[in-house]
Amino acid sequence: MTTTAVSRPLAAFTNEPVCAFSRPEEIQAARAALKKVRAEFGREYELWIAGGRHKTGDLLSSVNPARPSEIVGRHHRANAALAAKAIEDVHAYFPEWSRTPVETRVNLVVRAASIIRERKLEFDAWLVCEAGKTWPEADADVSEAIDFCEYYARQMQRFASPPQLVQMPGERDEMVYLPLGAGIIIPPWNFPLAIMTGMSAAALVTGNTIVIKPSSETPTIAQKLAEVLLEAGFPPRSFALCTGSGSIVGDLLVEHPKTRFISFTGSRDVGLRINELAAKPRKGQIWIKRVVAEMGGKDAIIIDREADLDAAVAGVVQSAYGYQGQKCSACSRAIVDQSVYDEFLQKLQAKVAALTVGPPEEPENYMGPVISAGAKKTILDYIETGKREGRLVAGGDAAPGDGYFVQPTVIADVDSKARIFQEEIFGPVLAVTKARDFDHALALANDSEYGLTGAVYTRNPEKIRRAKDEFFVGNLYINRKCTGAMVGAHPFGGFNMSGTDSKAGGPDYLLQFLQPKSIGEKI
Ligand code: NAP
Repeated sequence: MTTTAVSRPLAAFTNEPVCAFSRPEEIQAARAALKKVRAEFGREYELWIAGGRHKTGDLLSSVNPARPSEIVGRHHRANAALAAKAIEDVHAYFPEWSRTPVETRVNLVVRAASIIRERKLEFDAWLVCEAGKTWPEADADVSEAIDFCEYYARQMQRFASPPQLVQMPGERDEMVYLPLGAGIIIPPWNFPLAIMTGMSAAALVTGNTIVIKPSSETPTIAQKLAEVLLEAGFPPRSFALCTGSGSIVGDLLVEHPKTRFISFTGSRDVGLRINELAAKPRKGQIWIKRVVAEMGGKDAIIIDREADLDAAVAGVVQSAYGYQGQKCSACSRAIVDQSVYDEFLQKLQAKVAALTVGPPEEPENYMGPVISAGAKKTILDYIETGKREGRLVAGGDAAPGDGYFVQPTVIADVDSKARIFQEEIFGPVLAVTKARDFDHALALANDSEYGLTGAVYTRNPEKIRRAKDEFFVGNLYINRKCTGAMVGAHPFGGFNMSGTDSKAGGPDYLLQFLQPKSIGEKI
């Protein structure tokens, strides 16, 4: 049972501090971590299934997107038989893990957090090399992974104490929270440690067993998390790491009758496919699979005529170009009141021209590479479309270097029907659109099938109130950037095609992994 009350509540949650890498000693320490990680480049990694290591000989090479000739890790890819074994074994182990006392599970998740904390710079370095993150972006990702563990551990302690119910005369009435079963964790590559750790920690701490199907772009970071889980003391069969192609291994895991839930974060199309496949009951399946799918965004920042324009420009630049625009929360649409439009664009252009692009291990670079050759091509294709749909005012091409570098790009005068206004590009491309007034700006911002994040820059309290009521996004920010949600402060998840709005890092998130049971006992 999951409901054994926890005897020692953990201290109040606080967010892990993020390092800015501005001091020479921080940069020196980062370089030392990089050297250590580089010494491991090219290592071969095996699958972790049914409590043991497995090889298939079918190897996936993960490369450094800033230097694609550098192989970060070589990973055995699961085949159909191994994927089936992975889910069947975590299903078989579920009864044992679900009976593990809550306190034990909470302690293991906290232990995992402290191992990551002890090796934070090393994890940062893996993210720099495999995901192309700059040091501050990498550190924010690793800090968030720690936060998810610490936060969910505390939330599990809360769920372990049953809520007070109305008591019928002559009865003892209670409700307890049970785990669901064996689930599949499918993370994206863009927060390869934070999102994978968050979804895995939430599932495990609530008493579920899991198969992690990592992104094929960042399998080495997934191996590092698996090492942490084992070192922390998670039972070898409580989780499996099943590297492999999404379309082969992913489909099989989603469709398997023993799969009880799927926790997915990624693109709209893959999320919808998983939702569809999971909806169909398979032979031997005795439950409706639960799907949590957090998907894409086309996030807008409204710059009102009463905004602090310098603050707005700084917020838009950070939101649009941090991690090369490869965040679901990234600003890809700036919607600007006509009376400040020209001035905003001028200031924006100057700021964007000053952004540096290059290898992210060098602290002077604000932007690193995009994740892959395929992503670079898609983004450059969108830029060409954008040149036809609007007026290019900054960037517009690949950036120099061997890696997958793309210039930070601004396209102005974009109509709301344009593809670059409507479709998620997932790269450093910003569409700027003119609004007649605040009403029009809100209508433009809401003219999207997505509804993930959004921000409004204005000094007018009435407009702020209206944005709170009318801007239809899961995460709204006022007078600040639309990226950088903090665990505990900004529970994260979007509306409409942005997903199921599960609010990762929020007080309700663990309910996605639990099923409540009511008990009325005659006394
Ligand atoms: P993706 O292409 O949808 O892939 C996400 C994960 O799904 C990967 O592990 C992928 O594995 C796997 N996958 C692919 N096809 C599958 C299938 N048929 N069955 C099961 N799994 C399958 O997304 P991405 O490119 O990694 O990530 C970028 C997207 O994620 C963007 O759209 C972004 O907005 C979104 N995102 C959303 C949030 C949020 O909280 N809302 C947060 C971060 C990112 P392979 O790599 O092997 O294909």
